[in-house]
Amino acid sequence: MIRFENVSVTYADADRPALSGVELTVEEGELCLLAGPSGVGKSTLLGAVSGLVPHFTGGRLGGRVTVAGRDTRTHKPRELADVVGTVGQDPLAHFVTDVVEDELAYGMESLGIAPDVMRRRVEETLDLLGLADLRDRPLATLSGGQRQRVAIGSVLTVHPKVLVLDEPTSALDPAAAEEVLAVLQRLVHDLGTTVLLAEHRLERVVQYADRVVLLPGPGEPPVVGDPASVMAV
Ligand code: ADP
Ligand code: ADP
Repeated sequence: MIRFENVSVTYADADRPALSGVELTVEEGELCLLAGPSGVGKSTLLGAVSGLVPHFTGGRLGGRVTVAGRDTRTHKPRELADVVGTVGQDPLAHFVTDVVEDELAYGMESLGIAPDVMRRRVEETLDLLGLADLRDRPLATLSGGQRQRVAIGSVLTVHPKVLVLDEPTSALDPAAAEEVLAVLQRLVHDLGTTVLLAEHRLERVVQYADRVVLLPGPGEPPVVGDPASVMAV
């Protein structure tokens, strides 16, 4: 579903590449944890999946990244939006509407999805993420875990094959983090969504992961394996 072939990313003014020699395959329907300390290139790698690299962040891309068969060099993020959904650390910074239900519908509007399909998908997503009782709530009044579930829901209504999340639980307490991770695990197992999740606190996520990609240091190639083998490194 996601394939990196000898990928490097170099930012202007940097004295060494942010990523180099990355070979990576993430299979369909897998929850893949991208781990490693701050500054090793996790966000850069996620950006290469969503197409922000090379189209928006100024990083120069070497090698090849394909997502669901689409080459990210020739497809801009907008042209990948029906395939890759992206969720960040701080949902409030990205919300574009004020109310839960509107936020779930928003992502579909620019894709020309018919109104009756939009309505059905909002209902389906409210149920899937346990948000039905909150549909009319102003986003500003939600807890951190509820906000993060709305952020995930707002990209899920598009039915992306791949969900990319950058430290989605870093602002959450352990109970709320577990709530969000359990939702992601359900998406993988029930819908076959492919999830790539970056997190520097390995221990929080590792029990949910099918595979771990560990970036050991800046510019060093990733160590890839099942959770037990990577934990042993
Ligand atoms: P992580 O997500 O693991 O913390 P990042 O991918 O954010 O790592 O950063 C990797 C390296 O690339 C860091 O040295 C960072 O300063 C640099 N970097 C990240 N984004 C940019 C950018 N847009 N322009 C220049 N340098 C960047
Ligand atoms: P429509 O595509 O007309 O909106 P549905 O919303 O009922 O139809 O969904 C069609 C199919 O997509 C169903 O089989 C459903 O299980 C599946 N589906 C639901 N949510 C997602 C999702 N987030 N990603 C991928 N497939 C999904």
